[in-house]
Amino acid sequence: MTEQVPPADPPDLAPQRELVSADPGTPATSTGRVGAAAATTGGISPADAGPGSASTATATTADVIVVGAGPAGSAVSYYLAAAGLDVLLLEKTSFPREKVCGDGLTPRAVKALTAMGVPIAESDGWLRNKGLRIIGGGGRIELDWPELSSYPGYGMVRTRADFDQILARHAEKAGARLVEGANVTSPLLDDRTGRITGVTTKDGRQYRGRLVVAADGNSSRLSVAMGLHKRDDRPLGVAVRTYYTSPRHNDDYLEAWLDLWDGNSLLPGYGWIFGMGDGTSNVGLGLLNTSTGFGEIDYRDLLRKWLAGMPAEWGFTEENRTQPVRGAALPMGFNRTPHYTKGLLLAGDAGGMVNPFNGEGIAYALEAGEIAARVITQALARPTGSGRERVLQTYPSQLKDAYGGYYTLGRIFVDLIGKPSIMQFCTRHGVKRPAVMRFTMKLLGNLTETRGGDAVDRLLNAVSKMTPAA
Ligand SMILES: Cc1cc2nc3c(=O)[nH]c(=O)nc-3n(C[C@H](O)[C@H](O)[C@H](O)COP(=O)(O)OP(=O)(O)OC[C@H]3O[C@@H](n4cnc5c(N)ncnc54)[C@H](O)[C@@H]3O)c2cc1C
Repeated sequence: MTEQVPPADPPDLAPQRELVSADPGTPATSTGRVGAAAATTGGISPADAGPGSASTATATTADVIVVGAGPAGSAVSYYLAAAGLDVLLLEKTSFPREKVCGDGLTPRAVKALTAMGVPIAESDGWLRNKGLRIIGGGGRIELDWPELSSYPGYGMVRTRADFDQILARHAEKAGARLVEGANVTSPLLDDRTGRITGVTTKDGRQYRGRLVVAADGNSSRLSVAMGLHKRDDRPLGVAVRTYYTSPRHNDDYLEAWLDLWDGNSLLPGYGWIFGMGDGTSNVGLGLLNTSTGFGEIDYRDLLRKWLAGMPAEWGFTEENRTQPVRGAALPMGFNRTPHYTKGLLLAGDAGGMVNPFNGEGIAYALEAGEIAARVITQALARPTGSGRERVLQTYPSQLKDAYGGYYTLGRIFVDLIGKPSIMQFCTRHGVKRPAVMRFTMKLLGNLTETRGGDAVDRLLNAVSKMTPAA
C-alpha cells in the first residue's frame, strides 16, 4: 500500500506526526501508557526527548517505528529510548510467547545484555555456564570460555519465552512504547521518493515515523515488501529443537555433538543439549545448506536417530518430551542486504546476521540493535535531510566493519565443512587436541580480545580484518 505525503526537502526525514492525529481506537501499549506517561515508571518521557525528537508524539506516530520485539527490536528500542527518542515497538504476538531457539547465550551475548543494563543475576533465573563441552570423532573435551578483558568468562541459558519478554519490558522501562498484537503487513511509502514513512498493521492501523527498523526476524516481511530479498549466495542453516525433562537439566557446560550422520556422510552442523536448570534440557540440531542433501533431510527423524544413541538415563524419550519438535531457519553471513535503504534499517535475523561459524544469532541481534540506534540517534540530530541521509548510509559500512571480514571467513568455513571428508577430518583430529580446540572455540565463538590479547587473538583479528567484508 502506498500513501501520498506532501513533498519533502529531498531526501527528508522531517517529522511527519502533524500529518496524523491521534487515533483514540489505537491499542494501548502493554502497560496501558503512551507518551509522557511512560516517565512515571522510570521511562524517558518524549517531553524530555533529545535531539530530533518532536514533542507532539501520538499513539500512532513516533521518531522511530521498530517492527518486531525479538532481541534486535528490543535492543534498538532500548538504546533509542535511552537516547531520548520516541520509539514505537510493534510486535505481532503478545508476551510471553515462544520462539524456536536453543536458548544458549555465549559470553558475547552476556556482554551485550550487561551493556543494556539488563539484570542478569542468577537469583533472577539466569543459569550460568562455564564453557562448551564438545563431543565427536570419538573424543570429548570441556573448554572453559576464554578469560578475556573484552568478554565475561561465562555464558547463560534462558528460555526465549522469558528472555524476549524481559528485553521488551526493559525497552519499555527506558521509554519505548511497546504495542503487542500489532501485526505489520505493509510499509507506508512516500509516492514521490519511495521512502518508507511508516507501516500498516493487519487491523488497518497506520503507524508513522521518521525512520523504520525491520527487526521482524528471518522472514522479514517488511524487508521483502521494500524489495529486499534473501541472497542465495550466503549460508543458511536450518535447526530443530524441543525440550525433555531430564536429570541433565543442570549442566555447567553447553554441550555440542559433532556426530550427525546421514548414512555414511558426516553432516555439517551439530546437535546440542543445553540444560535449562528448570528440570528440562533444550535439545536440538542444526545443519548448514552446504551439505549436498540439505533440502531432503528429515530433521525430526535425524533428531530421533541421534537421540536414540544417548544413554537411557538421560531421559530423552517421547514420554519425557514436553514440547513439540519445532524448526526454523538461521539466516547467516548478511544474507539480506543492503542493511539500509530508503528510511529502513535492518537488524538481527531480518538482515541475516547469524554467525555462520556457530549459528549464534542473539548476540548479533543485540549488537546490531545498538549500532542501528547509534546511527539513528546521530542521523536524527542532523538539521538537514542530506545530512541525516549521510549518517544513515554509514549503517551498512559500520556493520561490515564489525562483522564483514569474519562473516566472509565463515562462508569459506561452511563451504569447507559441507564436504563430509573435511568435516570428518576436522572432527576426528580436532576434538582430541585441546590447543586446536581452544583456537577453534575462539574462532567459532568470535571471542577474541578486541585489542591486543594473546597470539591467537591477534592472529584471528588480523585475518578477519584482512579478509574482504562479506
Ligand atoms: C532452532 C534454533 C536454535 C537457535 N539457537 C540459538 C542459540 O542457542 N543461541 C543464539 O544466540 N541463537 C540461536 N538461534 C538464532 C536466534 O534464535 C536468532 O538469531 C534470534 O532470535 C534473532 O533475533 P531477532 O530479534 O533478529 O529476530 P526474532 O527473534 O525472530 O524476533 C523477531 C520478532 O519479530 C516479530 N515479528 C515478525 N513478523 C512481524 C510482523 N509482521 N509484525 C510485527 N512483528 C513481527 C516476531 O513475532 C518476533 O518477536 C537459533 C535459531 C533456531 C531456529
